[in-house]
Amino acid sequence: MNFIFLGPPGSGKGTQAKRVCEQLRLLHLSTGDVLRDAVKNGTELGRKAQQFMEAGELVSDELIVGIIEEKLQAGQLDRGFVLDGFPRTVPQAEALKEMMDKNGKEIDSAILLDVSDEEVIKRLSGRFTCPTCGEMYNYPNKMPRNEGVCDKDGTQLVRRPDDEEAVVRNRLEVYQRQTAPIVDFYRSESLLREIPAEGKLDEITKMVLEVMKVAQRRDYY
Ligand code: AMP
Repeated sequence: MNFIFLGPPGSGKGTQAKRVCEQLRLLHLSTGDVLRDAVKNGTELGRKAQQFMEAGELVSDELIVGIIEEKLQAGQLDRGFVLDGFPRTVPQAEALKEMMDKNGKEIDSAILLDVSDEEVIKRLSGRFTCPTCGEMYNYPNKMPRNEGVCDKDGTQLVRRPDDEEAVVRNRLEVYQRQTAPIVDFYRSESLLREIPAEGKLDEITKMVLEVMKVAQRRDYY
């Protein structure tokens, strides 16, 4: 099972990808997480990506495609995956298609989580993460038991620097300009599935799992 999760920042791609991957034992590959780790560890990749990330701009296609290619070559994508945050541009989507073809793999569906700009801004300004275990919290939907502290390990929660409102607005503009066109790319490949994603977390997960099941069943006919 190979899937792509699409949607604007704050649409819940990361949360939903984490949930379904745990349940279906798929690899959850978030290019944003790979880059944040690289920045934290001070690697060359991190140094190249940091200023773009802080401004809410995209890092170069070449750098990102290189990350995916490396994982593919290492066999890390062999047991099925959900890509979260990749592709983000038409050239990335084309490069992914070429890589998949070359390796005899296919994308089952590109699942678009549909939310309005207004909802995105509301969600991101209430989003906090645990820097130790990566658990995400969202006010008011998923609050930690003790304010500002992770339920799992007691670490002080932090806000991502790119979740500040000015950067969020830029990320939304970048999404409309550079990422929204790939929705048409996957529509034209008949791979696009759209899910209204402003409802309750569990209900959205249920819809995502259903869409994934149907896409996979299609392969047997
Ligand atoms: P995310 O966690 O997916 O919101 O990504 C955080 C930041 O990482 C983005 O705002 C970009 O700066 C960078 N990034 C992540 N994925 C990509 C990608 N596929 N192409 C370009 N930049 C990316």
